[in-house]
Amino acid sequence: MLGHDNTDSERKKECTKEVLINVYHTAEQLQKIHDTFWKDRQIIISSGWRSVRNNQKCGGALNSRHLYGQAIDFNLGLSTINKDYETMKENWKGFVLHEGTWIHADIRQYSKN
Ligand SMILES: [Zn+2]
Repeated sequence: MLGHDNTDSERKKECTKEVLINVYHTAEQLQKIHDTFWKDRQIIISSGWRSVRNNQKCGGALNSRHLYGQAIDFNLGLSTINKDYETMKENWKGFVLHEGTWIHADIRQYSKN
């Protein structure tokens, strides 16, 4: 997944205002959890919004929440990932998945569409 990125033209075409609003809400929720539980720690984000092409390259699901800016993949280091996942499960409003070396979190239940 690292090394994949969206291009400028994909951003212009696919990253709509609605997508940006989703990105904002996703990031805002993660920021709150960070400020509450992980204040002195750094979140390492490996994936946020993805263009269609980038999502395919990443091996993302066909209808991945990443396409809508509603998902974020991250960790705070591998040594604490199980504990950090528990913190996410208890506090994240939405869907959380332990992906081994990162945590996927999305806001699918909170989406209006
Ligand atoms: Zn993900």
